[in-house]
Amino acid sequence: MPQYKTDDKNLQKAMWILNHSKTGRSLLSKAVKSGYQIICEDLTAKNIGAGCHPRKKIILLPDNNKPEVLAFKLSHELAHAEQIMKGTVFSYVANDTKTSIMTSRCMEADAVTKHSIIACELKDKGYNEPYEEAKAISPESLYAVEKSIKDKSNPYVAGFKAWFTSSFLVNFYDKQHAALLSRLSEEIIAQPDAFKRKRSSKSLVKSICRDNNGKCYLQDSLDIMERPLYVGISSRHAQILNAFFANREEEHGIKCDQHIENIAVFENHDRENPPAKEKNKLISKLKTRRDYR
Ligand SMILES: [Zn+2]
Repeated sequence: MPQYKTDDKNLQKAMWILNHSKTGRSLLSKAVKSGYQIICEDLTAKNIGAGCHPRKKIILLPDNNKPEVLAFKLSHELAHAEQIMKGTVFSYVANDTKTSIMTSRCMEADAVTKHSIIACELKDKGYNEPYEEAKAISPESLYAVEKSIKDKSNPYVAGFKAWFTSSFLVNFYDKQHAALLSRLSEEIIAQPDAFKRKRSSKSLVKSICRDNNGKCYLQDSLDIMERPLYVGISSRHAQILNAFFANREEEHGIKCDQHIENIAVFENHDRENPPAKEKNKLISKLKTRRDYR
């Protein structure tokens, strides 16, 4: 197995911990082979918890976390690194809203599923902290994965589907997506052709959703990302996007290839306004979660 060389003692320990998980070991080995660099630095100014830079092949981690927490964050970013290795996922900011939303959600649901599987494997080996981290951020996927391991059903499918039941995560990434669109606005205006990356659910799922053996774990549901529950947005998010695109069109004359007309919009019981009993549950969860990507 290729070893990643670093002088950073914290990172060495984090990788040592991660190597106790079969899935973590496999992801780390693939990233090292493919030439990824793993760097710990002060991420305060970047305002991210951790990150994976697709073109530069760099995984960025904070420099002030203890090794157990670092191992957890590394597991999530390694999942993103693998997605990028498996094929182009640069459709994240396509000039086609449906493609963007499907890509962003599919990548996160897969990465959260993988960090949940790794957290369960590490817990089995006596390392509880990655599990606690996963519980704070993505309890829906973690519990679904854990149950599925016990039931001997497919933990990848369970974790992936459970991600979409989390109003917190779905809203969080929709906001990230909208922020990225406005941050990249100038680039999109300068070279609109570079952002014409229409993708189908089938093509995204086939390149992103792969298990440890490289097998697509959603082979039976390749259309999953086109289904309303998976691609649908809240009416509030639809308003934000409509305002952004109307403004862009007025100022720069740029139209979307496809806007939200082909996406389900939840008017009632929407993702931002769950029924009262769910709302209280959600509020208590939000308090325990931190910003991360
Ligand atoms: Zn992520």
